[in-house]
Amino acid sequence: MKDKEQVIRPRDKGDVPDDPLSRMRHSASHVMADAVRRLRPNAKVAIGPSIETGFYYDFDTEPFEPGDVERIEAEMRKIIAENLPFERRVVSRDEALKLFRSRGEKYKVEIIESIPEGDEVSYFQHGDFIDLCRGPHVERTGDIKAFKVLSFAGAYWRGDERNAQLQRIYGTAFGSEQELKEHLARLEEAKRRDHRLLGKQLDLYSMDDLVGPGFVLWHPKGAFVRFQVEDLIRRENLRRGYELVYTPHVAREQLLETSGHLAHYKENLFGGMELDGQRFLVKPMNCPFHIAIYRSQMRSYRDLPLRYSELGTVYRYERSGALHGLLRVRGFTQDDGHLFIREDQIGDEVARCVHFALDMLNLFGFKDIELFLSTRPESFMGDAAVWDRAEEALKGVMDRLGRPYQMDEGGGAFYGPKIDLKIKDAIGREWQCSTVQLDFQLPLNFDLEYVAPDGSRQRPVMVHRALLGSIERFMAVLIEQHAGAFPLWLAPVQARVLSVSEKAADYATQVVERLRFAGLRAEADTTADKLGAKVRRAQMEKIPYMVVVGEKDMAAHVVSPRTREGQQQPAEPLDDFVRRLAEESVMPQLLSLQPSQASQPSGAAPASPSSSPISQPISQPTSGVPGKP
Ligand SMILES: [Zn+2]
Ligand SMILES: [Zn+2]
Repeated sequence: MKDKEQVIRPRDKGDVPDDPLSRMRHSASHVMADAVRRLRPNAKVAIGPSIETGFYYDFDTEPFEPGDVERIEAEMRKIIAENLPFERRVVSRDEALKLFRSRGEKYKVEIIESIPEGDEVSYFQHGDFIDLCRGPHVERTGDIKAFKVLSFAGAYWRGDERNAQLQRIYGTAFGSEQELKEHLARLEEAKRRDHRLLGKQLDLYSMDDLVGPGFVLWHPKGAFVRFQVEDLIRRENLRRGYELVYTPHVAREQLLETSGHLAHYKENLFGGMELDGQRFLVKPMNCPFHIAIYRSQMRSYRDLPLRYSELGTVYRYERSGALHGLLRVRGFTQDDGHLFIREDQIGDEVARCVHFALDMLNLFGFKDIELFLSTRPESFMGDAAVWDRAEEALKGVMDRLGRPYQMDEGGGAFYGPKIDLKIKDAIGREWQCSTVQLDFQLPLNFDLEYVAPDGSRQRPVMVHRALLGSIERFMAVLIEQHAGAFPLWLAPVQARVLSVSEKAADYATQVVERLRFAGLRAEADTTADKLGAKVRRAQMEKIPYMVVVGEKDMAAHVVSPRTREGQQQPAEPLDDFVRRLAEESVMPQLLSLQPSQASQPSGAAPASPSSSPISQPISQPTSGVPGKP
């Protein structure tokens, strides 16, 4: 996969968007800065934009403390009650410099210095507070209806850790108390689902400074969930006619020079070591390695499409300030796939990728999916006619899906058009997961060829595709989607058997053995703790089934399961429970692949584009056999 973005960044750059809510939020940031300056006259102000869900302001001052929230809010309420007008002034650059220098606002001075000489500068004033700003603002401070100071964080001037450390305050504002209340409830819900907290609470993963920031250590329970996800990915790849490959984590610098990554990706490359007079780098992407496999022999038109898939672990340098839980890390695994295809196969193969992505996301419970098609940018490589045909094919794919999609004209990469899929999670947050990207460039860089029916040498087209994206990031999304309460097939422990008394301990162990023998993941809690404590512990760990056993159950050879939602189920024979749990635990299977449709001849001569099987509503593999002679 070529896309280096793992996280969708908040909108926070530059000008204030001109909508009433953004205007009010940005105005609230001025009021907050004023409040901080009233409380801490020596604090220097940096910048204070509105962002997607509120606003922030950066200050050069001592770190804030929890009690400051109330103090700042109280001061803001006073300023709002004063109902001061926001007044815009336009001055020359030199006048602005003089003004902000006299107030000791060195960050504002630095910003003004970057403005071309002779230009005019605008600032806004309410009361005694002056801020360099293009606006727009609300009329008066009293127009700020409902606000809240949310949190403090460290930040760097201009986002660069070599610069001064600043103190950031996040806040939000809404048009009514009711909307603010609803927003705060959503934030509370997001916190309850935060994968970093749940990761610790459920003992799923950790990071260790000794290992290095941004490198994930998967603990047994988290590793199991990941194993299930990866197992499903491998199985589905095989069912879809992909072949599995493995490639190394380190390669000669020349490989990345040929691919172009060395030139265009340098600041993200990790390591660099000199061995036996050769330079080596740590793998930032899987593509060049899959290309090396393609190049290992002469390919014929009959071999195409070739579909390689790998859960490929890659390493990319990210600024330490940008690291965030599992969402932005330095080492991560992509559910990566690369297809080598003929130009006439673009429509069919991209359609299969998109169907595959939709199916996978559905399978994990994500039904709300947005699609985006990005086309040729102004500067592009290759033949415009090939681009036109490729985009035509991609539009055809999107149209046949029968789902709405958004066009991003000119938003494709220089090397090819692409299709992206975004999901919405349980509380309405958007995540970019799948991407399907055509690539005309890498086949050229590596001089890839295949032999056409007439014996001529032709260049294949490449498709980069990732369905879930980064496994680490997808795990974060999964944890937050389920608030840690994984569905049965993913749950690392499916049932915990709790003994009521010491006399029932043996039976608890027997029940666990019986469940394990059936391939289920069970454990016993035979500690001397009170039953209430055992139940609470299992609930904290979000274990799907608790089975409380006492002497009576032992005598009757029954169990009385209780779900993690607190539902007490009637007593049932142990064998029935084991059978039921096994049935409920089956890993989901993609239904779109009916056996009758899974056998299609492969290796046929190039078909005319009109014979496309993608007009059918479901995707299917061309080859039922994942290995080729
Ligand atoms: Zn790739
Ligand atoms: Zn402003």
